[in-house]
Amino acid sequence: MELSKIINQLGEEHEKYFNAVAPPIVQTSNFCYKSVDDMRNAIVNEFDEPVYTRGNNPTVGILRKKLAALEKAGDCLVTASGVAAITTSVIANLKEGDHIICVNKPYSWTNHFFSNILKKFGIETTFIDGTLTANLKAALKPNTALIYLESPNSWTFEMQDLAGVSQLAKENGIITVIDNSYSTPLYQNPLEYGIDIVIHSASKYLTGHSDAVAGVICGNPDMIRKIFANEFMTFGGIISPFNAWLMIRGLRTLELRLNKSSKNAHEVVDFLYSHPKIEKVIYPHHPSHPQYELAKRQMKDSCGLFSVFLKSTDIRKIKLMSESLEYFKLAVSWGGYESLIFPAITTYDPAIEKNSKLPVNMLRLYTGLEDSSELIKDLDKSLKYL
Ligand SMILES: *Cc1c(COP(=O)(O)O)cnc(C)c1O
Repeated sequence: MELSKIINQLGEEHEKYFNAVAPPIVQTSNFCYKSVDDMRNAIVNEFDEPVYTRGNNPTVGILRKKLAALEKAGDCLVTASGVAAITTSVIANLKEGDHIICVNKPYSWTNHFFSNILKKFGIETTFIDGTLTANLKAALKPNTALIYLESPNSWTFEMQDLAGVSQLAKENGIITVIDNSYSTPLYQNPLEYGIDIVIHSASKYLTGHSDAVAGVICGNPDMIRKIFANEFMTFGGIISPFNAWLMIRGLRTLELRLNKSSKNAHEVVDFLYSHPKIEKVIYPHHPSHPQYELAKRQMKDSCGLFSVFLKSTDIRKIKLMSESLEYFKLAVSWGGYESLIFPAITTYDPAIEKNSKLPVNMLRLYTGLEDSSELIKDLDKSLKYL
């Protein structure tokens, strides 16, 4: 379906709610019936009928139709957060004694989930460099049940060949799950490459205004029904009707926001790439990225998020530089209207006088919706502190 039709019309039935143009926030926990038979029919069909908002809610229902169509999926479920989407969809496809292959450096809480939580239940994870499909193949075990991808991941922007990995997984009867938050459904549709489940942190571009936390699980209708009837209803990590409404509103401008944020990133990356204080930029759609060709092949573009390495490793100066910015706010997350800086030195541990995970001279930057020339001026001014 054409994009503006999905965003402006799909799922909306104005005559059902006083012909209001904006759909209502159906802020209710439960739904009532005229007859015992109606109630019984609704309960046996909870996947399609609003019975109780933990299962189905009309405002969330509108959103589900739009998100599934955007990701070219048969269906989807909306969750309370991106990590609820990850944990719910992964657990739904595992049993005791299974083995997972996960790409190196996934989202930090994904890492924690695999390394600490699933491990307690006898599920082991092998982390590998996913830039070569051969590495995944070499890590296969007889009990490998799931391959977890993040392409690109959100600090180092490594990618996997989605067609190659999904072929390998299918040959071995393995479920593939990808975190597609970076690309959004507008810049990459992994289901088209044969990936089984696509999850998003909708807290980023999909809701898009830094005002709500949410997640999405996309897949074929059988997979989504299976997850709904088991882990989704049992874990209960659902989105509230109000946050669903915020996301419907956010989606109205998704294409405009994403394209502007991405255009800003391209301009800022070009500026930083040739700046004397910058050692290196990591951005999938920059020719200096080692997987530039793969990025162009499987993604339409890169979004507003990228990393840079400074030439200086002087922590005091990097602090001054980061704090002097006027447009780039010091904050985690990304995908909102506002530009952000996340310096790796925020993970600096004063007790051991070194960074726990990331190099001290690394910064993650996000370009929001501001004027790119203002963002470039802001960075140019701040880099003088180095
Ligand atoms: C933010 C983020 C998540 C987690 O999403 P929440 O909505 O914060 O739970 C997962 N993956 C990536 C790549 C993210 O950036």
